Amino acid sequence: MKISDVRAHHIRIPYDAGVASFRQGASSIAALDIVLVEVTTDTGLTGWGDAFSYVCPRTTLSAINEMIAPQARGQEVPDVAGIPAFMEQIQRNLHLFGRYGITMFAISGLDIALWDLATRAEGKPLHALLGTPKRERIPAYASLLRIGAPDLVAGECSTAMGQGYRAIKLHETTTAPVHAARQAIGDGIPLMVDLNCPLDGATAIAFAQTCREAKPLFLEEPVWPPEDFATLARVRKEGGLGVAAGENACTVHQFRQMMDASAVSHAQPSVTKVGGITEYLKVVALADERGVRLAPHSPKFGPGLLATLHLLSLRDDSHLRRGCST
Ligand SMILES: [Mg+2]
Repeated sequence: MKISDVRAHHIRIPYDAGVASFRQGASSIAALDIVLVEVTTDTGLTGWGDAFSYVCPRTTLSAINEMIAPQARGQEVPDVAGIPAFMEQIQRNLHLFGRYGITMFAISGLDIALWDLATRAEGKPLHALLGTPKRERIPAYASLLRIGAPDLVAGECSTAMGQGYRAIKLHETTTAPVHAARQAIGDGIPLMVDLNCPLDGATAIAFAQTCREAKPLFLEEPVWPPEDFATLARVRKEGGLGVAAGENACTVHQFRQMMDASAVSHAQPSVTKVGGITEYLKVVALADERGVRLAPHSPKFGPGLLATLHLLSLRDDSHLRRGCST
């Protein structure tokens, strides 16, 4: 079976609520943009992948059409055992374009599509190609937007609890809302704080120490720049809290650097960014070897979300410490 073509598709789903209240650079976010990767074969089988795009779908789409498609078109479709070598060769061929960001997002999309093709060729779901599922339900947490005012944060936490969520993630960068959230949800409910990389080391350590009484499970991406693993490790050690990172990291090699520095308690690979299912599996193996917990980042829906759910079904993690992250 040969790959006859690789095509990227940009899907745009406008938000019902209008433009989102935050901005990414100069772009207002008024829709969910996703880029799907369609891999067709000469036998008629088709696999679908998912490449991270967020506010740059046309860039990701171009990367797939210009960089990825010529690498894959005409090649024999690899079976499960052959996917890692197939993808490694493509990573080698494209390394001059960088091993981070758009290039790896595009590579991730192809990888997920090849795994999808493998499931169709074998007639088995992804989890069955990889092992034995250990659970049928994956718990979700409420991921709140950055709100700011402690009383409003407490109110949103109570609403989420009323909706049945049993874990909360905040996106706050000051400590008062963290304490307000803990007060609202009580003890025993996992509380996570995602900062999205704003702080220097000293400020992040102070933030962690001030948050300690609210017992967050972890601080997610507290420092700028995110690849400063030495500072991240210092925040983890001196701040006295768990630290999660990795949703923007690519390849197992960057995760190894992160873990070598003892920077994280929780690793957060994303199948649509890290290099696909193949690199994700390498990160999981490394995390298990190092005793680092897993809290993968996940797309909101599509092949990336489905792949993440299959991958999480293979782990016997009933606690949300290993839930998905956004
Ligand atoms: Mg995050």
